[in-house]
Amino acid sequence: MLSVRDLKVSYGGIEVVHGVSLDVAAGECVALIGANGAGKSSTLKAICGLVPASGGSISFEGNDITRASGHAIVRAGITMCPEGRQVFPQMSVIQNLRMGAYTRTDPEQEADLSRMMDMFPILRERQSQAAGKLSGGEQEMLAIARALMARPRICLFDEPSLGLAPKIVASVFETLARIKAMGVTILLVEQNSMMALNLADRAYLFEAGRIVMEGAAGTLRNHPDVMRAYLGH
Ligand code: ATP
Repeated sequence: MLSVRDLKVSYGGIEVVHGVSLDVAAGECVALIGANGAGKSSTLKAICGLVPASGGSISFEGNDITRASGHAIVRAGITMCPEGRQVFPQMSVIQNLRMGAYTRTDPEQEADLSRMMDMFPILRERQSQAAGKLSGGEQEMLAIARALMARPRICLFDEPSLGLAPKIVASVFETLARIKAMGVTILLVEQNSMMALNLADRAYLFEAGRIVMEGAAGTLRNHPDVMRAYLGH
């Protein structure tokens, strides 16, 4: 479904992603793990058009999207659930959800809105509140639901557990597992390597802007180098 070849990303002429290649098949959940600053988020941002690729290519369902604009990429079916939630703080919960469906013209948006509130009852309870007043965990649920409102073919999650209490982190991962079970294709960037590897089918390990290991999530989880450097044992 998604194919990234020899991707390079630079900021102000300084290259931080040095030729990354990865694939995501339809229905798969793929995790990108590795230390801070290894280039995982930059890779995700290049895929959804938030930062330009300075080299390489990205194709989605057979179409080259390397130079496509962010809105064209959303319309093609790629949605990002961004790091730090980035809900629209002054808009209500329901308005945030509607913004997620901004590119849609089909008549099923209201039904999807209702489905999202069934899936996240807290969002139904808080539907008229300003999104900025929600707790961090609630904002994460809103950001996830807003991303799903686009009916993405693939959903990219950038650090969904960042800054959340352990109990909330567990509930975010339960939610991701439900989304995976719904058949949504997932590409996930996570600092919490253990939880990411428990959820994912396959994973790529990033170090200093390069992929240094890839394989089945279970294989990476049991690899001594990964265990020592990223899983704390
Ligand atoms: P993190 O978990 O911290 O987000 P990451 O693996 O996702 O780590 P990136 O955020 O992609 O890594 O960062 C890769 C490198 O690019 C880092 O050295 C970072 O400081 C740098 N970088 C990221 N965003 C920018 C930017 N907007 N301008 C300049 N440098 C940036």
